[in-house]
Amino acid sequence: MALTAALGDRLRLDEPLANHTTSRLGGPADIWLPVSHVDKLVEVVTLARQHQVPIFMLGGGANILITDGGLRGLVIENRTRRIDLQPPQPGSAQRSLIADSGVVLPNLARRCAREGLSGFEWAVGVPGTVGGAVVNNAGAYGRDMAATLVRAELLSPDGERVWQPVAWLKYDYRTSSLKWQAHLEWVVLRAELQFTSAAPEAIEARMTGFNERRKSSQPPGATMGSMFKNPPGDYAGRLIEAAGLKGYRVGQAQISTVHANFFHNLGGATSTEMIELIEIAQQVVEDKFNVRLELEIEVVGESAKPTP
Ligand SMILES: Cc1cc2nc3c(=O)[nH]c(=O)nc-3n(C[C@H](O)[C@H](O)[C@H](O)COP(=O)(O)OP(=O)(O)OC[C@H]3O[C@@H](n4cnc5c(N)ncnc54)[C@H](O)[C@@H]3O)c2cc1C
Repeated sequence: MALTAALGDRLRLDEPLANHTTSRLGGPADIWLPVSHVDKLVEVVTLARQHQVPIFMLGGGANILITDGGLRGLVIENRTRRIDLQPPQPGSAQRSLIADSGVVLPNLARRCAREGLSGFEWAVGVPGTVGGAVVNNAGAYGRDMAATLVRAELLSPDGERVWQPVAWLKYDYRTSSLKWQAHLEWVVLRAELQFTSAAPEAIEARMTGFNERRKSSQPPGATMGSMFKNPPGDYAGRLIEAAGLKGYRVGQAQISTVHANFFHNLGGATSTEMIELIEIAQQVVEDKFNVRLELEIEVVGESAKPTP
């Protein structure tokens, strides 16, 4: 194919995406390509669009369940990692930086701490990239991207690079105008994030506190984080546990025995098993409590049902 020849020698054909997701689940990508520079990302997306090959942007693979059928077309793994601190503005207590969309959140949180930039401590234990966090409005401990992002640079469906202000993203709980893009039209390239100045030691101490809270409440292992959104006034984990499903298994997919909103790949699970487990949890909770749990993660790939 002319496209594969143009993409260079880092690409792999039929790459198992289970190697690129936190759940260790996911069938093959027709074409998989890691990209390390924003200009290259723009070039690759433009090229794929010219060849009418579908693209999928993969960040850390921390919030998606890719079906066993995998993804058709080109999967671009975002490894862009540049961080540019912006000079302080006279008279302003705010500081900002511009991060590539492939920057890994915990790495960015630690860099902010070293620079004395406060406001991103919550991200120290959140896996994934800035791009995924912009799309999902990732957050923790009462803060989120909506409170941190000033503007995002996007590649538009027409191939233009445009900076959009945070309001454009229409943020809500773990969602944005960019989530559930049936065909990836907007690609997040970079993000400007805003912080206040603080002593690095104080920032480090807050991050240590968040890490400890996470360790005591969340099970380790191959998961996608929280499976369902918390329904208004309740917790998905509480409902699943009250429905008697803690520890319930389909094959090698298991609802955590520690936190019922975490679903594990115990090793060798299939996405089909995981999807069956999701559907059982939704059905049993609905039958018992008349609450329909909505997915927080995104199911993507061949034969995926419409989400959420
Ligand atoms: C153990 C664990 C704990 C977690 N804890 C939290 C938590 O506390 N808070 C929280 O909010 N989340 C949490 N999550 C979920 C996850 O970390 C976040 O949703 C994160 O933002 C996902 O980023 P990602 O780069 O992995 O996105 P991916 O899963 O790779 O992608 C998610 C979606 O974003 C799209 N996307 C990714 N990058 C781009 C881009 N550059 N341009 C356009 N679209 C893009 C993808 O196509 C996909 O549709 C947790 C996950 C795990 C595994």
